[in-house]
Amino acid sequence: MTNPFLAIDQQIVGDIYTSTESMDNLTVLCDEFGSRFGGTEGERQAMEFMQAKLRDYGLPHVRAEPIPYLGWRRGEARLTILSPIHKEIPCISLPHSPAATVETTLVDMGAGAPADFDRRAEEIKGNIVMSTSANPQGVKRWIHRNERLGRSIMAGAAAFLFVSQYPAYGPETGGIGHDDGEAHIPGISIGWEDGAYLGRLLKRHGQVRLRLETNDSCEPMISWNVLADLPGQQQPETVVMLGSHYDGHDISQGAEDPASGAVAVMEAARVLAKYGADLPVTVRFALWGIEEIGLLGSRHYAATHADELSHLRFYLNMDAAGAITHKAITLNEWPALEPLFTGWGEEMAYTVPIRQSVHAHSDHFPFLMAGVPTGGIEAAEFSGRGYGHTRYDTLDKVKLNNLREAAMIAARLALRIAHIGEWPVLHRSSEEVAALFTGPEYKEEAEYRAQIDAFYQQARGKQ
Ligand SMILES: [Zn+2]
Repeated sequence: MTNPFLAIDQQIVGDIYTSTESMDNLTVLCDEFGSRFGGTEGERQAMEFMQAKLRDYGLPHVRAEPIPYLGWRRGEARLTILSPIHKEIPCISLPHSPAATVETTLVDMGAGAPADFDRRAEEIKGNIVMSTSANPQGVKRWIHRNERLGRSIMAGAAAFLFVSQYPAYGPETGGIGHDDGEAHIPGISIGWEDGAYLGRLLKRHGQVRLRLETNDSCEPMISWNVLADLPGQQQPETVVMLGSHYDGHDISQGAEDPASGAVAVMEAARVLAKYGADLPVTVRFALWGIEEIGLLGSRHYAATHADELSHLRFYLNMDAAGAITHKAITLNEWPALEPLFTGWGEEMAYTVPIRQSVHAHSDHFPFLMAGVPTGGIEAAEFSGRGYGHTRYDTLDKVKLNNLREAAMIAARLALRIAHIGEWPVLHRSSEEVAALFTGPEYKEEAEYRAQIDAFYQQARGKQ
């Protein structure tokens, strides 16, 4: 197969694989600026550092767009077993947990399949629900933490106790707020061993009473999306966008999730600025703020740039992409794009699996909901978060060649998407977006989302 971009491909691939720039940037983001969690000094430093780097790479339109939002400050959380014995269990609050004190009995939902929360609603009511991050057996789609929490809330739970599925990883964190606001009930997280211990106690004694105390607070804050453009020479208003969030969780360096993705976006920007001259359409690089507490940066962008989204040809999401060893391109149910991407793999002499699926848990989602053709660099086989969202998601876990590969794939795909004469798909209408979630594999989650939205609307209306 002939490759019309062979000369540029060779420059791009050669440059990326003879440079340590992506790892150098990752080192600064993680070791100098820490978690970059919303509201930290490291977040602001990262925002300034990434802009300075993109300017160094020669990108002409580098800017930071402010995002006002309701931020969250961690307080100390405490979990005490009151009976059958007295013992404290180490724990942390989940971001956007309200401050509260709850004293009641424990309900162990294990890996909790969605239907279990309805079936055991009587048991759950007024009590503390414990659920692990493991996917329930026999359930094909990934059951996100917030769906377990939301189903617990709707069944009347008083608090939520999240347990890591991995031994020796400590507690796993993750935002539990709803639409940039506090969760309806307090939520905390504990390590796998402590969850197993509580489960054993409950089994042997029939009842376990707990006291859970959280001391977190919410306050208005500002975050930023960092954006940079390589302007198109023929149709500058048409945009191909690559993006990843840069905020991690406060208990972690967030090296794999998300910084490995953020530096891969920056690396793609560096090589395209250098070798991708005369792009017919604009290629935009987006580094999103505060994804971890509700996709707030990308949602803010999609809302404030709503009138420009019809010119967005494709958005490629790269959340944590530089940490993945076996990469795939996920297209968010765009079968008409599949032959194109498959052909490009052959043309580049670099094929990765192309998959079709949709999920709601990263920055592609606001664009997908607006009808924009979207996809991402994701793991060929999703098998849980691994170190992600734990204190062990550190720089030493990330391999330079995985960073290079993510940047290399993204840069070469962006080049091709920008140069194509005729883009084979139109944006989805709102009806077509809604229809996407009526299929059997998405229906249950879509129904859950509608229910929890209605629940919060009513609960907040009453306040
Ligand atoms: Zn992420």
